[in-house]
Amino acid sequence: MRIGFAGLGAIGAPMAARCAAVHDLIVWNRTHQRAVDFAAAHPGVRVADSTMSLGEGVEAIITCLPTSADVVSLLDGQHGLARSLTAGSLLVDCTSGDPATSRGIATALAERGVGFVDAPVSGGPPMAERGALTVMCGGTDADVMRARLVVAPFAGSVVHLGPVGAGHAMKAVNNALLAVHIAALAEGLVTLAKAGIDPRMMVDVLNSSSGRSFVSEMLVPDRVLTGSWPRLFRLALLEKDLGIAHDLAGELGVDDPVLAHARQLYRELRATLGETADYLDTIRVAEEQAGVALRG
Ligand code: NDP
Repeated sequence: MRIGFAGLGAIGAPMAARCAAVHDLIVWNRTHQRAVDFAAAHPGVRVADSTMSLGEGVEAIITCLPTSADVVSLLDGQHGLARSLTAGSLLVDCTSGDPATSRGIATALAERGVGFVDAPVSGGPPMAERGALTVMCGGTDADVMRARLVVAPFAGSVVHLGPVGAGHAMKAVNNALLAVHIAALAEGLVTLAKAGIDPRMMVDVLNSSSGRSFVSEMLVPDRVLTGSWPRLFRLALLEKDLGIAHDLAGELGVDDPVLAHARQLYRELRATLGETADYLDTIRVAEEQAGVALRG
């Protein structure tokens, strides 16, 4: 398929790399040099020199930007992407965005005959490189059917959850739970370390007991116990996801004291650690505050 890809960030770049092997790909990135470097590393990939030219002649566009507001900015304006998208084409938005903004985007694009699917992903850059991401879709049956072909190069599974916005709702709640697990685990592990228990032993026992989670089974052994701390997912983006989940709960009249508290916690971490901190720096901060190191 002829595909345009916007947003060559930590997760966007490996997703686009998978697409380059299958689709006829043109890429755009806010920092132009990043797109030029990507094309140099992936023969056959073309670089769009404007957002408008990204949409010319493509069957579908994939966006992978920080927020839905960034997607709106990309589409709108005199030289916006929406101007070049033709009737019958499709926007597949892999941003972890918000349902309300996506419904607005879908309505505006529908007036031009362009389809929209919110298709946020889960799995992180290593799973993107292996083509094993979970893709959470919201849209019509026909649009999601087409989106399946678009995302196939980086998808391990594609799930159609409901109308436009359903994918973003699912992703936001998933990531809100991830954030809660990380923060709770950080507190629990440093408590056990201060009680004199060996870090490797505490994680092994937890992982064969009922308090385990994806964070304790995968992330802590790979990145914390080893002290490798790779920077794969910005804490700022996780805080954004918590905000989307909290706002959604509010819109739907759901009382969410745990998510509300976690949101406040991550807001403070974001303000303290800045925009480039990694999400697992939450555990690093807990270590520093307790004066322990969870290695082993
Ligand atoms: P990064 O911060 O690594 O990259 C963001 C990308 O968006 C860059 O290409 C950046 O361009 C571009 N960008 C930033 N602001 C704008 C803007 N205002 N207009 C146009 N382009 C912009 O983010 P990730 O790749 O990690 O995340 C992208 C999305 O995927 C987010 O919604 C995130 O929540 C989600 N996600 C991330 C995962 C991960 O593990 N990293 C996992 C699952 C989902 P530039 O090069 O100029 O900075």
